[in-house]
Amino acid sequence: MNAKVWLVGAGPGDPELLTLKAVRALREAAVVLIDDLVNPAVLEHCPAARVIAVGKRGGCRSTPQAFIHRLMLRYARQGKCTVRLKGGDPCIFGRGGEEAQWLRERGVEVELVNGITAGLAGATRCDIPLTLRGVARGVTLVTAHTQDDSRLNWQALAQGGTTLVIYMGVAKLGEIREQLLAGGMAADTPVAMIENASLPQQRECRCDLAAMEEEACAFGLKSPAILVIGAVAGHSAQLALACGSPATTAQQSA
Ligand code: SAH
Repeated sequence: MNAKVWLVGAGPGDPELLTLKAVRALREAAVVLIDDLVNPAVLEHCPAARVIAVGKRGGCRSTPQAFIHRLMLRYARQGKCTVRLKGGDPCIFGRGGEEAQWLRERGVEVELVNGITAGLAGATRCDIPLTLRGVARGVTLVTAHTQDDSRLNWQALAQGGTTLVIYMGVAKLGEIREQLLAGGMAADTPVAMIENASLPQQRECRCDLAAMEEEACAFGLKSPAILVIGAVAGHSAQLALACGSPATTAQQSA
């Protein structure tokens, strides 16, 4: 009989942000397929499991997605409870939806388990409220990276009035800035760029939309990082100023 496959979010890095359900899945796992962005510290919950690194940086370069699909299927058919452990949430730019569908089409039971997505964790760890009464009535999660030719409606993003949280944007800062400015977003819209959110090495860089690319370059911003764009990104900086903290545009926030 096929074993179940859990598609589990490991959160953004801080092992304390793992959910209790994720811990239960890890305890039950015989095999754990782990992505690059997962903090290996969470493996303390599955000391007896066989752990296989399947991230793009961790090996299996050729057709990694098809390879991962086959691995999950193989272990499920061997009756081994399998956890596919992903950074953040499995269904936020994590292919959780497509992996679940692929497995279910082959008769494998799948359970998805939420993780705290990097955008939410990064904002919170920088004291940025992604929604704020009177300031931001919503949040839009966007990826700057596409493998197809699909195009974002930048004008709608620029004028939607929601806080933008952009994933996979580090290599596309210039394009993001140009598109948002062209779409009508104000050049002085606050931006927070948050690297390694929730980890001890977390860093944040604050600036405005117009200066985003130059500031990131001077700061040495590296992936993984998320961008928070909107009035709320200036919120905690204003609070800090009001409380008498030194004014900095770039700071080590850990
Ligand atoms: N499923 C993940 C996202 C995977 S896409 C989630 O829900 O968080 C990979 C992108 O996520 C990275 O390029 C980066 O933009 C973001 N990311 C993941 N972990 C991060 C972290 N600890 N700090 C900042 N950004 C992170």
